[in-house]
Amino acid sequence: MVTSQLLICDFDWSVVDQDTDRWVAEVLSTPIRRKMEDLEQLEKQDKMQWIDIVGQSLKELHEQGVTRGQIEGALEAIPFHPAMKRGLTHLKETKAPATTFFCLSNANEVYISTVLKANGLGDLYDETVTNPAHFDDAGLLHLRRRVDPDGPQHSCKVGCKPNMCKGEELTNFLARRGVEYDRMIYLGDGSNDFCPILRFRSQDIALVRTSRGLERRIREEGEKEGLKCQIKYWEGAWQVEEYFRELSKP
Ligand SMILES: [Mg+2]
Ligand SMILES: [Zn+2]
Repeated sequence: MVTSQLLICDFDWSVVDQDTDRWVAEVLSTPIRRKMEDLEQLEKQDKMQWIDIVGQSLKELHEQGVTRGQIEGALEAIPFHPAMKRGLTHLKETKAPATTFFCLSNANEVYISTVLKANGLGDLYDETVTNPAHFDDAGLLHLRRRVDPDGPQHSCKVGCKPNMCKGEELTNFLARRGVEYDRMIYLGDGSNDFCPILRFRSQDIALVRTSRGLERRIREEGEKEGLKCQIKYWEGAWQVEEYFRELSKP
């Protein structure tokens, strides 16, 4: 019987049906969105870090007169599927099993909290681990890497980018909480969601969005890396709602 479970949520293309970093740029400035697209080629060659590209695009938006209100407005309008909201809310309200909600995302503090509040889910997560961000008085959104480039680096062996190892973050979260959950559930889509699910046990479940980086890595590296957990695939949020309703039973 499952009495306690942990839900770990990626955010972009998992909880919301978009990528927050790209969405904010493309809502507000196509030339800046284009530049991000071009710089992403350098990111793929490990010559730039994605978070630094986003930070630079936020500076450029600010220089072009984009306000804090416009950035918040873009975030408030991001596609967030009603079935995802229903599924998350149902799981949150269920008391047996009780679910702890952990957000583990390479977006940032401001984007995640703004989107959740706009959708009436401001209290969803018990803890969020993501990149630090804040608006200054002039309305510029400052963004920093989760792993400070000048401090100690993570020690991931399965290819996480320098900015964040979600596997290590999960291990640290579990150590902080000091709880052994009967079941862990992961909601994710991206290639950086592969590392944490490698730490899952056989009773744990990964809800994997199809046709994206995580599905690809499971196919190509899952067996080699000794992936043990159960995998359930989904394409649209309505299927996640179905899974969450199943997982709301003891
Ligand atoms: Mg994602
Ligand atoms: Zn890692």
